[in-house]
This record gives sequence, C-alpha cells and structure tokens, in this order.
Amino acid sequence: MGYTARMETPSRKVVVIGGVAGGMSAATRLRRMDERASIVVFERSGYVSFANCGLPYHVGGIITERDDLLLQTPQSLAARFAIDVRVGHEVMSIDRGAKTVTVTDHANGLTFDEPYDQLILSTGAAPFVPDMPGRERALALRTVEDTDRLNAAIHPGMTTAVVIGGGFIGIELAENLVHRGLSVTIVEFADQLLAPLDPEMAMIVEREVVANGVEVLTKNQVVAIEERDVTLADGSTRPADLVVASIGVRPETGLAAAAGLTLGERGGIAVDDQQRTSDPDIFAVGDAVEKPDALDGSAMLVPLANVANRHGRLVADVIAGRDVHARPVQATAIVGVFRLQAAATGWNEKRLRASGRPYVAVHTHPASHAKYYPGAQDMALKLLFDPQTERILGAQGVGAEGVDKRIDVIATAMKGGLRASDLADLELAYAPQFGSAKDPVNMLGFVAENVQTGLNNPLQWHEAQAYMDAGATPLDVRSAEEFAEGALPGAVNIPVDELRARLDEVPDGPILIYCLLGIRGHIAARILAHNGYTQVRGLAGGIRTWDAGMEWQRRSLT
Ligand SMILES: Cc1cc2nc3c(=O)[nH]c(=O)nc-3n(C[C@H](O)[C@H](O)[C@H](O)COP(=O)(O)OP(=O)(O)OC[C@H]3O[C@@H](n4cnc5c(N)ncnc54)[C@H](O)[C@@H]3O)c2cc1C
Repeated sequence: MGYTARMETPSRKVVVIGGVAGGMSAATRLRRMDERASIVVFERSGYVSFANCGLPYHVGGIITERDDLLLQTPQSLAARFAIDVRVGHEVMSIDRGAKTVTVTDHANGLTFDEPYDQLILSTGAAPFVPDMPGRERALALRTVEDTDRLNAAIHPGMTTAVVIGGGFIGIELAENLVHRGLSVTIVEFADQLLAPLDPEMAMIVEREVVANGVEVLTKNQVVAIEERDVTLADGSTRPADLVVASIGVRPETGLAAAAGLTLGERGGIAVDDQQRTSDPDIFAVGDAVEKPDALDGSAMLVPLANVANRHGRLVADVIAGRDVHARPVQATAIVGVFRLQAAATGWNEKRLRASGRPYVAVHTHPASHAKYYPGAQDMALKLLFDPQTERILGAQGVGAEGVDKRIDVIATAMKGGLRASDLADLELAYAPQFGSAKDPVNMLGFVAENVQTGLNNPLQWHEAQAYMDAGATPLDVRSAEEFAEGALPGAVNIPVDELRARLDEVPDGPILIYCLLGIRGHIAARILAHNGYTQVRGLAGGIRTWDAGMEWQRRSLT
C-alpha cells in the first residue's frame, strides 16, 4: 500500500534497463537516496539480481541449489525497495525526444511505451560466439536460463567437452565441467591462458589445469563444430559432446547506438566521470560502458562485477543530486583454478613493454603464512613499478592460498598512490596461521627498495639468455643436490653458505646469480658486492620463475 501511495507523487521517474549487477545497484541505491522517485527496471531475462559470477559453480554442482543464485526477486525488490521490476521485458528502443522507451513484454507479446525523466542503461555485455559451421551447438553462459540450458545439455553418457577460450570464465567452466565428470579440452587462440597475467605466471595456471586432466591447446582455434566433435585450425579434431564458447564478451550497445548516443573507441558506450552519456538524461554503467584506465586514462572495457556495482551505486547518487565522480579503473580481478587462485591488478609486463613505458619487475615466491605453522602454501607474486617515480603499475599473483589478500592490498596501495617501496612499511595483520611478520607484500616492498637503492640488480627470466650470450656466467648458489637436478646451461655451483670460503672459484666477468626462488641469490649477491664484485645481476624469482617462463617460450615457439 505504501508503495502505491509513494508513486502518486514521484519526485522523478527513473527507468533502468538491465536488472542485474549495475542496474540493480543503481535502482536500490536510488531508492535509499530518494524515497519518492518512481523507479522501474526492465530486465529481458526471466530473473533479476542473479549471481552471474556463481553460474559456473552451479554447472559444476558446487552451488547445489539453483535458488541460491537468485539474490532477489521482483517481489522482494518491491517489498523492500518499492521498485517496479519487470522481468521478461525487453527495451526495444529509446525515443530521446519524447523521453520514452518502447518495451516488449515477452510473456504476452505486448509492446508499450514507458516515459522517463532519467534513464540508466546497464545492458551488460554479450558472450561472443564466432561465426563458424555448427555455431548453434556452442552454448554460452551469461544468464540463469543459459545455466539451465547447459545443465540440461549435460546428460549421463556424455564424456567430452571443448571450452573455446581460456579466459576467466573459460577456465571456471572447464573446472566445473571436470567436476561433472567430463574430459575437457580448452582451445585458446592466444599463446597463453588468462590474458591479464604475464606468460610466466599464466604457465603456473596452465600446469595446474593440465594436472587436473584438462587438455590445453594454445595458439589454436575451433573452426567448425560437428555433431560429436570440433575441428581446429591446425586440422586436428577433438571429441566434444558439449561445446561451450567463452572467448569473451562484447558490450551490448545496440540500444544506445540506435538512439544516437556516442560510442567510444573501444566500442562501449562513452560516458563522463558521472556515468552520463552524450544525452544528459541518459546514464550508463557496467560492461556496456568504457572506463578510463587508471594508469594512462585510455578507454578500457572492464567486464567486472565490482566496477559495475560501484558505478551503479554512483550513478544513483548523481541522479539524486550528489556531486560524486567515478575514478579511473585498474581492473583488479581474481579467478579460482582448481587448487589455485590467480589474481591481477593494473597493467601487466606485456602491456608495459608494448607501450614502451619504463618499468621494473620484481618476482617473489613467499609462503602464504609462516612456514612453521602447518599448511603454508607457496605463491608467486610479481610487482611492476616505475623506476623513476616508483609508482606501482601492476601486480599479479598465483598460489593456493593468500593471493587474494596480497593482490587486494597492492590494489589498495595503487589506488592510494603509495610507491613500491612504501609496501615495505605497511602494517599488516599477522599471526602465524595468516601471514608472516614480514608479509609477502612487505617483502615486495623490500625488494623494490633494494632495487631502487642499487642493492639488487634483477634480470628478468626473458633477459637471461641475452646476458649469458653477452658473456655472463651463471652462478648457481643452491645446494649441490638441487644443482644436480638441473641448472642453467654452463652454470657454476657454489652454495650460498660456502660462498665466503670459495670466493676464489667465483668466475671472472659478469655473473648471473640465481637460486630457486630469489632469496639465496640476493644474499649471495650481497656477499659478492661486499667482496668487490661489481658485475652481478640476480635472476628475478630464481629458477622457478625462469623455468615457467622458458616452458612457455619453448611452447609458444612451436
Ligand atoms: C559466468 C560469469 C561469471 C562471472 N564471474 C565474475 C567474477 O567472478 N568476478 C567478476 O568481477 N565478474 C564476473 N563476471 C562479470 C560480471 O558478472 C559482470 O561484469 C557484471 O555482471 C556486469 O554488470 P552489468 O550490469 O553491466 O551487466 P549484467 O549484470 O550482465 O546485466 C545486464 C542485464 O541487462 C539485460 N538487458 C540487456 N539488454 C536489455 C534490454 N534491451 N532490455 C532489458 N534488459 C536488457 C540483460 O538481460 C542482462 O541481464 C562474470 C560474468 C559471467 C557471465
């Protein structure tokens, strides 16, 4: 009753197109900001406010109850927020002059016009399925209905699946199809999985995926889908009772473009820092929209839930009259990969190199918590920063535990404008089961500070060969047992604990010093520096990072 009464004297009429992440954040926040606004949400699918990010895990049977994906219903949103949510309603066009949208109610085929004072587009991004023979057999995952279709397609007797695309959703799907007992192949066009990671980090992920029985084919492509298998660009075939396409998403801009709203250079809807489109009464948020990059301000498409939700909230504030502004985005993301977590924020090294921007890369392999407390897990962390300003440019992490926390701390540091060596000073919560007295983030700061003060002169795994070709001798400071298991070509072995006594065996000329993870190499490099050696460089991340990078390089050259 209260709902109807309020609607009789609305302060404004706001129509939202798209009732999931950005759209529902906008609608519910607007209600909290303005009790008298009339708020109508049109959602094309049969559900609002569903957990898109949980969909792969319902396919895998980890989220067992389908209803758990449905965070709200039109009824619950009406009851709590007095929002008029209409599912199964597709907005077909926008008449900016008349300030109306034309809507089709798919339940009865009726079409009607709905007026608005302000319009919010949160139409998202659609999975892209490439044009190829048999395309119609490829399923994609975006909505609850897609999940139902995928679940219905998986039946007893089905044994094989091909996932097209090795990005975040592709990997999640592959894992969940393994949980369903299928033998899975991922086909990825690029030369690595998970594009936001650099290849030596992505290789750790790939090893994990392969260790769980998934075949990974990179630098390859599905060109045709047949009844029971797929044909790849190299002419080979793979059995595929099920085919899922997850090669990426494209912003849904059809409505905006048809209404004459300006699109940006990346094909998303162009908005200002208050999410306003080229029409002052139309706002847009989420995957359909371009965002400025935190580092260089360039337009980016960032299909991530956090950004969509935050910008949804912000746009409601703007409409309610608050002077708030969206900040550039750094695309912080994480994915679970079987036993591992893989996360990234900011730019990666590939992008920095391609743009010609100077950077320093630091690799560490800390334990997730104090090693003496049971259950500590190794992780690989990578920090990228500007050698002049020490601005943090990006970070990546892969490991079984604690990667989320470290990348989130670094993402926060980036947002707050901390420098790389400031990470050394962060006071982070510590007890042995949660971290280390010198947290992995502190350690990254220590290494950054050492690099900046000249105590450490790191060389990247991909620079090592050129340094050795130029005459540097690899000096392996691991134990003799470790050395015997494999070393860099031409390496001399002097374990770090014996180095002071065996200085006369240290080769003349430039030295590439290394150990397994980097720490013993750094200690040995300091011993050499104190003994007058000036041409010493340390292999960043030790042989573990080098090995992952070289495995990727060998594979990508074939
Ligand atoms: C399977 C999957 C897993 C994901 N996992 C993660 C994750 O772990 N972490 C993360 O950060 N992000 C994840 N994402 C991405 C995240 O879900 C999106 O970034 C976020 O939902 C974008 O919000 P949005 O409001 O822009 O679009 P959406 O949430 O997609 O909502 C857009 C809605 O608009 C509706 N719509 C479109 N056009 C019309 C129209 N003309 N009329 C009416 N309705 C219309 C669509 O039906 C759709 O429901 C995942 C996405 C998927 C699909």
